[in-house]
Amino acid sequence: MDALVLGWIVLSLLSFTSLQFLSAPYGRHARPGWGPNIPSALGWVLMEAPAVVVPLVFLGMTERRGAATLALTAMWLLHYINRTFVWPMRMRLRGKTMPLVIAAMAFGTNVVIDGLNFAWLYVYGPERGVEWLSDGRFWAGSLLFFVGLAINWQSDGILRNLRAPGETGYKVPYGGAYRWVSCPNYLGELMEWAGFAIAVWSLPALAFFVWSVSNLAPRARAHHRWYTETFPDYPPERRALLPWIW
Ligand code: NDP
Repeated sequence: MDALVLGWIVLSLLSFTSLQFLSAPYGRHARPGWGPNIPSALGWVLMEAPAVVVPLVFLGMTERRGAATLALTAMWLLHYINRTFVWPMRMRLRGKTMPLVIAAMAFGTNVVIDGLNFAWLYVYGPERGVEWLSDGRFWAGSLLFFVGLAINWQSDGILRNLRAPGETGYKVPYGGAYRWVSCPNYLGELMEWAGFAIAVWSLPALAFFVWSVSNLAPRARAHHRWYTETFPDYPPERRALLPWIW
């Protein structure tokens, strides 16, 4: 299992390197040449569904009911029930499409990394029972997770309100953590998975955080560059992902 997880971290580094040259072709970076498209809302539900189904399958099949295991599963599900079902319905995605191949690749990678994380929590790793609830790593990680979740949801809300129903163009977002960075939704998401990795304290959770960085850091850079090239009055003090730094 550890070899698989280490392989995943190597794959993340390869993905990070290739995304320096090639932005994933959805949203503002969409371009022809990536095969058939499907409605974006359907794509999001399909590709994120494993993140809801996999933990529920493990929860239903194993005997483990440790208090911290259940709390960590609830945190994960809170994020992913929103991302899979609520976010695609609330975001103004009507008329938007994404390549089927992107949804299929994300579906496949989610099955593997979600499976590794929940196999560790429910089968292979040491059980995170009630005693883990008083471990400093659980508290520090959970705090980081929930601060990240709040930033991610607030930023998603700001983006959602930029478009009136039927609108498809782009505007400069203001407010919340947009004061400091171009992609606070990605910053919040990365804080969540860093927090989760600390709260679980497992190699698969670390691999999931590394995987998320490998996807979101290059995309934040591409978004930031796109904003500065598209809007001449774009706030110059804003960074891509890390306030005051990068
Ligand atoms: P984006 O910020 O690119 O877009 C989110 C939504 O907001 C899209 O509907 C987009 O429209 C719209 N939007 C973005 N900027 C503007 C703007 N300036 N004006 C008007 N509308 C705008 O995020 P992603 O689609 O890449 O990701 C969505 C969520 O999924 C994020 O919260 C991200 O953290 C998460 N995610 C997590 C990954 C991981 O590895 N854990 C990987 C990828 C995403 P449009 O589609 O038309 O651009």
